[in-house]
Amino acid sequence: MRTNFYASLLLLTVPAFVCGQNPVKPTPNMTPRKITAAEVQKSAIVIDTHADTPQRFVDEHFDLGDPLNGGNLNLDSIHKGNLGAEFFSIWVEPGLYKGQYARRTLELIDSVKQQVAKHPGQIMFVTTPEGIEYAHRTHKFAALMGIEGGHSIENSIPLLRQYYALGVRYMTLTWSNSLDWADSSGDIDDKSIAHTKEGLTEFGKDVVYEMNRLGMMVDISHVADRTFYRTLVITRAPVIASHSGARALCDAPRNMTDDMLRAVANSGGPNSKGGVVDVNFYSGFVSQAYRDAEKAQKPEVDKAVADAKAKAKADGREFKYADEEKIQRSYSDRIPRPPLSMLIDHIDHIAKVAGVDHVGLGSDFDGVSGQLPEGLDSPADLPKITQALLDRGYSADDCRKILGGNLLRVFREVEAVSKELQAENRPKITDKQPFDKPQK
Ligand SMILES: [Zn+2]
Repeated sequence: MRTNFYASLLLLTVPAFVCGQNPVKPTPNMTPRKITAAEVQKSAIVIDTHADTPQRFVDEHFDLGDPLNGGNLNLDSIHKGNLGAEFFSIWVEPGLYKGQYARRTLELIDSVKQQVAKHPGQIMFVTTPEGIEYAHRTHKFAALMGIEGGHSIENSIPLLRQYYALGVRYMTLTWSNSLDWADSSGDIDDKSIAHTKEGLTEFGKDVVYEMNRLGMMVDISHVADRTFYRTLVITRAPVIASHSGARALCDAPRNMTDDMLRAVANSGGPNSKGGVVDVNFYSGFVSQAYRDAEKAQKPEVDKAVADAKAKAKADGREFKYADEEKIQRSYSDRIPRPPLSMLIDHIDHIAKVAGVDHVGLGSDFDGVSGQLPEGLDSPADLPKITQALLDRGYSADDCRKILGGNLLRVFREVEAVSKELQAENRPKITDKQPFDKPQK
């Protein structure tokens, strides 16, 4: 890594001495000019794999052209930070939308497309790696979509296929809720919830296989550890963790152990170049101190929420999710923000354990009630990450990989695997395949 850094510095100095028509003699004290973070940021295709802004599109009628107004992502900040592509999260709150998962999923998908339609000069709807590159070349922001939580497919492979047809290019197998076919890290220790025997049922394996066949990236953020390992055994394409960090630095079940980080790097078939872990910016996954402080606050927060609920009931008012979030945020805001260096520690740790080809960015912007490290409030602050990586000796090339190149490589490979699977006869991985005619 450090060797590359100095090699790139050397390269920068080369043109002046070698390539110019009139070679300039170096002055004795001339030091090689350091490439700036702004230059790296400008030359990189910056991709963020997770933002919850569609909740704002639908529930608050938020437009990407609006000021941030308490949120994290808008067009102004996207342009300032040269964010090239965002995977907008299609996340259906499982309690609030019980019985309407598909409807809410479709409304969120539509909200992303409406934003593209409203800003045709600035945003491009994209579903392929080439699309991301084309948008970058034409100075447009690429909007993509990933579904967060397999409950959106309502146990239906046909629904999964239709979400792909609508442009969804990854699916997080579970959110914080376990499903009939996959377990979540969010409730794996809850004895009152039914769990699978091995992490994925036979249907769950079909879902993963069909995602491989379609060319939809398999996202293992949020799943229980055993679901993670079961998925890795059967997936034919490399996987992504769209928004997770390193458990060695912050002990959250949403973060990944060193063994899991290496497993993602080795995921996919025998010729695979491996998957990518996109680091979540959420303070509670970045800093152990923040996490402990939040835990200590929990009884007080729970009481405040219960009191507000009771009061709303007494007043004959509806108590909404936004009301609860507001209370939560008022408490979280009292905990000191972790320094940005702690987030860089996660990127650095994953690069060291899994390799620099296996780490990226998954901000979780607009999904963490503003609980982000110091100085990191929107995509406009992304160049600070680039600067910090350069300061730690990462080369410009390595920075570009982390900023988006790695995700682009995985996305390409997922598409190649999909083409292979569609060309070959589908191998039987379970007795009952979605394509099979019913047995008479
Ligand atoms: Zn999430």
